[in-house]
Amino acid sequence: MTIYFIDGQFTSKDSLNISIDDRGYYFGDGVYEVVKVYDGELFTAEEHFSRLFQSASKIKMTIPYSEQQLIDIAKELVKVNEVETGHIYMQVTRGASPRVHQFPELSVAPVVTAYAIHNPRPLTNIEGGVSVKSVEDVRWLRCDIKSLNLLANVLAKQEAYDAGCVEAIFVRDGLVTEGSSSNAFGVKDGVVITHPATNLILNGITRQVVLKLCNELGIPVEERAFTPDEMNAMDEFFITSTTAEITPVVLIDEKPVGSGAPGQITRKLQEAFARQIPLSVAGE
Ligand code: PLP
Repeated sequence: MTIYFIDGQFTSKDSLNISIDDRGYYFGDGVYEVVKVYDGELFTAEEHFSRLFQSASKIKMTIPYSEQQLIDIAKELVKVNEVETGHIYMQVTRGASPRVHQFPELSVAPVVTAYAIHNPRPLTNIEGGVSVKSVEDVRWLRCDIKSLNLLANVLAKQEAYDAGCVEAIFVRDGLVTEGSSSNAFGVKDGVVITHPATNLILNGITRQVVLKLCNELGIPVEERAFTPDEMNAMDEFFITSTTAEITPVVLIDEKPVGSGAPGQITRKLQEAFARQIPLSVAGE
């Protein structure tokens, strides 16, 4: 039986007491995080929970727990659910209150909900690469907030799936921003290029790990936006996220990237990433 966390309690899914008046339902008024679990341990937990607090602060919401308390809750969920490789999902909504747009009275406390789930590494994609489709970025202008409002991302991902692809790559005003649930990177003449961490993208934790690895490996990086034409001329392309890790992209809008196989720099970064996670799952 899977144990969830809601509003201060660990409980079974069937006993979850979720209000229809939760502002997460009405407005997507909340923020969330997904944290990877390798070998029963949270990966880059501090970075994720720190971003959760930043997202909450950007929507003027106070989380009724400390960062350490949330990490402890996440660890407990991993333990009681015996998750070895998987992830934690945690969301915080502005709480339950009759439906009006403005914030509820201060006495309404934000609701924290979380679960831990087994989820193996997507090794087929990581090894073989994936196809992506470019889609117009119609999201709002605060993509830096990891908000529950994901409708534009959902529609874009579906458009990609309908085209037989696993990810949509957003293009806004003639520039590539990121994926619908990932960050996007190109490699040209040995340089890794990715959109800067502005309000137009989520500054992914995996993105930050990759930039750190580039620095350690001496791989030059340019944090700048690039056009779809530049994207199509990249030697290599890859996407990153907590669950997708570093996934090579081999087809963009049905056209092969470089040689049509995962590139050398992508492989180098994947190997370095695998060294960051416990050995027992690195080659899972
Ligand atoms: N960009 C978007 C829009 C996302 O939804 C995600 C993850 O879900 C990412 C980027 C990657 O972020 P992270 O590496 O922190 O998982």
